[in-house]
Amino acid sequence: MKIASVRLAPGRDQALSRRHPWIFSGALHRATPLPLEGSWVHVFSSDGTQTLATAHAQATGANIALKVLAFGEHVADPGSFYEERIRRAVAYRRNWGLGLAPHTTGFRLVFGEGDGLPGLVVDQYGTAVVVQCHTEGMRKDVPLVVSALRAALENPELSVFVQDQGWDGTPQSSVHFLENGIAYTSDVEAGQKTGFFLDQRDHRAHVGRLSEGKKVVNLFSYTGGFSLAALQGGAREVLSVDSSARACALAETHAAQNGWTDRHRSVVSDAFDYLKELPTDAELVVLDPPAFAKRKSSSHNAMMAYKRLNAMALERMPSGGLLFTFSCSQNVPVAQFTDAVRAAAYEVGREIRLVETLGQPVDHPVVAGFPEGAYLKGLLVSVD
Ligand code: SAH
Repeated sequence: MKIASVRLAPGRDQALSRRHPWIFSGALHRATPLPLEGSWVHVFSSDGTQTLATAHAQATGANIALKVLAFGEHVADPGSFYEERIRRAVAYRRNWGLGLAPHTTGFRLVFGEGDGLPGLVVDQYGTAVVVQCHTEGMRKDVPLVVSALRAALENPELSVFVQDQGWDGTPQSSVHFLENGIAYTSDVEAGQKTGFFLDQRDHRAHVGRLSEGKKVVNLFSYTGGFSLAALQGGAREVLSVDSSARACALAETHAAQNGWTDRHRSVVSDAFDYLKELPTDAELVVLDPPAFAKRKSSSHNAMMAYKRLNAMALERMPSGGLLFTFSCSQNVPVAQFTDAVRAAAYEVGREIRLVETLGQPVDHPVVAGFPEGAYLKGLLVSVD
């Protein structure tokens, strides 16, 4: 494979020294035009003498011109590059028990920049893996990625679902997996993300540990992840609330397949509407809304929405209640989110304790050079 070359602009050779994996268009030398979107590129210093990186070209004219796959080297063989990176990603998870523990068979195998693979997300669900490509470079490299996954996982029964492309191997009509011993199905073909929100695994277990005997209301419940954990933990009653009828139906299927239908109910509703009538005996409430701030410019409106949502919940929760509240907006830092929750409590005149700050699980790693990889944050709040 012939790999194109580019040089950085004079004075920009230090752009990669902090290992931030994005190269902006202004950092490129005008004398070396960017190759076609999705191509592999060898990056040289401005004078052409130093090997700086290997990258995927982004769209012509885009603000981000290159996404770095390897720092300090010019990779010659993309196939063995993916094999090495994916083996490393698998080994990293196994080091934390993920992929070995029989009670948890669903987890993220590859988390983009966090695993040195910008633009690539891979989730494992039992014997199925789901591949999501966020760049043209990764879309073009899917065959290499799939064979690297097969080599690293060494499971002859593995089926690979590539979003927007289809199955490689035997299609699985429904994808089953376990999380902390709970049986779930991932809605891989028609669901959100890769069909399940694996990033909340540890927080679901946390909710489970605190649910015994409680009435739990899970807002923005999707397919009932937190609800199932609460049911496993011995909640006396659990309500799942989501605006998607399809998600609520799957939440009910989940409750049924684990044998917990009698304590669970799902409600198709807008969460803001439902909160006006939140039962005043809901001792544990989960708020896990979608990202309100999709870009920096909307972060003010997002803060108002987080404040309103948390105020509505805190206003009606009983004394002694526990609130698990989250934000998955990458543009909202934890300090700002905490301020929104504090402002919410102040607005409705409730005293709260900020018991714990919650973050990302081990399978969604944040590398030092790419702090933008941190998007999920939460608070465990106790209501006085
Ligand atoms: N907590 C879930 C993931 C939540 S994802 C889990 O552990 O799996 C966010 C969910 O919010 C999605 O299911 C989406 O359908 C739902 N949603 C988005 N806007 C909503 C609204 N205004 N009211 C209720 N649900 C909403």
